[in-house]
Amino acid sequence: MERMTRGCVGLIAMFADSLEQIPRARNGRAPDVFRPGGWIPMREYRNDEAVDFAIVGTGAGGGTLACKLAEYGFSVVAFDAGPYFRPLEDFASDESEQNKVYWTDDRIVDGDNPLQLGSNNSGKSVGGSTVHFAMVSLRFRPEWFKSRSLLGYGADWPLDWREMWNYYTDVEQALKISGPVTYPWGPHRPRYPYRAHPLNAAARVLALGCEAMGVKWTETPLATLSAPRGLAHPCVYRGFCVTGCSTNAKQSALVTWIPRAIAAGAEIRDLAMVGRVEVNQAGLVTGVHYHREGNWHFQCARNVVVAGYAIETPRLLLNSATDQFPDGLANSSGLVGKNLMAQSNQAVWGVMEREIRSYKGPPSLAITEHWNYEDKGKDFFGGYAYMSQGPLPQLWAHTEMSAHGLWGSRLVREMEKYNHIAGLKIVGEMLPQETNRVTLADDLDQYGLRIPRVTYSWCDNDKRLIDHSLKFMSQALEAVNARDIWTQDDDTCHLNGTARMGSAPDNSVVDADCRSWDIPNLWICDGSVFPTVGGVNPSLTIQAIACRTADRIRALAGRGELEVRGKRNAAKLDQRSTELQP
Ligand SMILES: Cc1cc2nc3c(=O)[nH]c(=O)nc-3n(C[C@H](O)[C@H](O)[C@H](O)COP(=O)(O)OP(=O)(O)OC[C@H]3O[C@@H](n4cnc5c(N)ncnc54)[C@H](O)[C@@H]3O)c2cc1C
Ligand code: SF4
Repeated sequence: MERMTRGCVGLIAMFADSLEQIPRARNGRAPDVFRPGGWIPMREYRNDEAVDFAIVGTGAGGGTLACKLAEYGFSVVAFDAGPYFRPLEDFASDESEQNKVYWTDDRIVDGDNPLQLGSNNSGKSVGGSTVHFAMVSLRFRPEWFKSRSLLGYGADWPLDWREMWNYYTDVEQALKISGPVTYPWGPHRPRYPYRAHPLNAAARVLALGCEAMGVKWTETPLATLSAPRGLAHPCVYRGFCVTGCSTNAKQSALVTWIPRAIAAGAEIRDLAMVGRVEVNQAGLVTGVHYHREGNWHFQCARNVVVAGYAIETPRLLLNSATDQFPDGLANSSGLVGKNLMAQSNQAVWGVMEREIRSYKGPPSLAITEHWNYEDKGKDFFGGYAYMSQGPLPQLWAHTEMSAHGLWGSRLVREMEKYNHIAGLKIVGEMLPQETNRVTLADDLDQYGLRIPRVTYSWCDNDKRLIDHSLKFMSQALEAVNARDIWTQDDDTCHLNGTARMGSAPDNSVVDADCRSWDIPNLWICDGSVFPTVGGVNPSLTIQAIACRTADRIRALAGRGELEVRGKRNAAKLDQRSTELQP
């Protein structure tokens, strides 16, 4: 028995190792995420075959774009540094085991408020951070797209909110977002495709607190199923969402956009770390150098899209510097890496008399966006939403330990209250500042590439927003008779910025189509392009931008304003693009 147990542990460890070293998507097939041990056919391209698009990253931005471009008839190879999981067999309901879904490579942090990275930050697997995100799927307040002109802070986006409203609807349909019949804030939006999830006790605490404070609340729009969809069954409310959903109820890029991309002819290369984008004498990109199975390779491409998240995207552009572009690619404005924006993620916690068991169900089942849409009574620019919370036990123990220095028997005594805690947490807007940035450190990673240095300090406006939210949420918890209320003052989440879009080459890195101003066949399509972050979680906006970018690329290709393959496709694209002319 003892030998067998050890044998099993050894086997699991071996399996985990091989999953992180041996690619699964190859030999003409990719993992079928809907069937344990299953495969689906996948087209493959030779390295010397110039594909229309090489996409770096398969998360919210890259995964969505790979799908849309492949469906429009372009040849696409999408690279991801992380493994290709089948959630049904690879994911455990175990917080430690699931560390494998995060990007935990070395990064240096500094500034007055150094960011916590690792699990608090980005993912490293096919599907990117959407594999472990909390599924909250919110639209921007329309005015935020013109926050400088209309609200007096930040920077304007070169996009119109009405156009974005249509793309939001497309993404909500593609992900079968579950949400309330009527959303209480902002302009009309179509009904969410799936009904809202029922509230858990933690969400009821939020609802009662809002009612006591006289502000509206609603069920949170979530990218997890409230009814069956194809081979995926509805959410079973076990609460392991931020460590990776093992049932496929979560509508991550891994189980939505990626299978569609492959069905449309895209190739996904897992465990393939792109280390450099190559540029020729004419100043055009020619492909990417990537590391897979112990060797460096070069994939030829007519266009390259960087979609590696707000840290890895500028890192790759900076690491790709040449004599012609000594400060890195797409960086004539000097803005690559700058204007990094986290979102504030402070919380207020309290103990309720009755059991709450906040871990049951997705973590944020109820929300108020009151302070995103109400500007009166604020001493700061921007806004915040706040949501109910459901931390899993290890995370909660860690939170208690770092906030109160608890350890040993004192921590155990505190953990005895776990089933009674309720919390409210913000997603708050932080302002863009050039001094908050990603640069290259001198240290090298396992591939011999310079690692990123991430510098972050809160500005006075950020601090005032945080103070306002903590006071308001504390009053809301007091109003529902929570006791032992305390504030978690230092958390941040969701990084964006670092390659902002804008109206001109001197104020931005890319244009409204996510095309770099400096190199016409280099594109950036992820959260890096955000000029501002607003007070809502970013992934719906990232996916909406990716859908728009695909439509713009199709229109540009149809007009012959883009490097793409053969005439057959160009004719097809031309026909389709007429209705997309701006
Ligand atoms: C715990 C947690 C909860 C979250 N919850 C929510 C939520 O509820 N709602 C919401 O909207 N957002 C949420 N987010 C944020 C959201 O997931 C991200 O903002 C979003 O996925 C970012 O999209 P992206 O395309 O910029 O990058 P990602 O989705 O992170 O994708 C980037 C991909 O690129 C790959 N990559 C990077 N560099 C390279 C390279 N050089 N070569 C090859 N591959 C590379 C990475 O492995 C990764 O898979 C959450 C994030 C975290 C950490
Ligand atoms: S609560 Fe729902 S979405 Fe979250 S892990 Fe469980 S089944 Fe997946």
